[in-house]
Amino acid sequence: MEPPLDRSTTWPYVDGEAGPFHYARNAHPVGVEVERQLGELEGGEALLFSSGMGATAAVVLALLEPGRTVALAQDAYYGTGVLLAELERWGLRHVLFDQSGPPPPEADLVWIEAPSNPLLTMPDFGAAAAHPGLVVCDATAATPVHLRPLERGCDLVVHSATKYLGGHHDVLLGAVVAKSPDHAARLLEFRTRSGIVAAPDPAWLLLRGLQTLEVRMRAQSETAAALVSRLEAHAAVENLRYPGFGALLSFDVADGGAARRVETATQLIVNATSLGGVTSTMESRYRWEGERVPAGLLRLSVGLEPADALWADLEQALARA
Ligand code: PLP
Repeated sequence: MEPPLDRSTTWPYVDGEAGPFHYARNAHPVGVEVERQLGELEGGEALLFSSGMGATAAVVLALLEPGRTVALAQDAYYGTGVLLAELERWGLRHVLFDQSGPPPPEADLVWIEAPSNPLLTMPDFGAAAAHPGLVVCDATAATPVHLRPLERGCDLVVHSATKYLGGHHDVLLGAVVAKSPDHAARLLEFRTRSGIVAAPDPAWLLLRGLQTLEVRMRAQSETAAALVSRLEAHAAVENLRYPGFGALLSFDVADGGAARRVETATQLIVNATSLGGVTSTMESRYRWEGERVPAGLLRLSVGLEPADALWADLEQALARA
């Protein structure tokens, strides 16, 4: 009933010929099954990578070349900008833009994030789709339960599968889903050559995570929405950011000192980075992102704990703000 976990790195030739599986860097059975399921969820051809950043690196390295320009949503995940800055050395340019409006016309590839982490803005899909360049949407925080970017005019979807798709803080993986078979074929070729591949064990855990994706997302989103209204009414909370769906939100407390006091005072909510798991996590993002975010910003990833228990934890922690 459950797909077996085949850890083989090589499979026998059949009558001297390579079959569908011959060497694990090219493809392995568990990975292919995850890709089939994720492709179905997003409505495209999925490819698994060893992390979300691996997926991002593969997209820009495989589909662009030196001298090309990426238009990056200015509040996209900070690691995406860090990678693009690294790749400037190799002749890949990037410019930042406000994703609530049209991307700069000169870009060869447009990178949007829906919703952005941790400022929770949404892109203007119409404006992005009207751009002549390739359009890539990082939909990590939305998941296909809430959003299918290929249906909104995007060419590629990227996920940190480390987050909601895996869902339990125990898998580091990434994925790209392509609308065009040509893009998928090029990404597969690049993945095999570069070795940015997912191992069978995390892929198997992702398969298990996908079985509960929808029910987890619906429950976590419902709890997040319940917390949003209570947080909005709290005197210590400003600028609550929530796109109206999903389980990720952020808000500000007075300053960096208050953020540190609140994040270290929670007992049920774990003070840790990362997001998207069944265990709630909260952290100040200033420690990683500096001036890109307000010093008092706290990012909360809502898990599967009861809403009342989470609220009680937040309330007692916010008392230290
Ligand atoms: N995209 C988003 C929106 C993320 O939040 C992250 C990680 O936090 C990544 C991409 C990178 O994924 P990974 O940590 O799996 O490499």
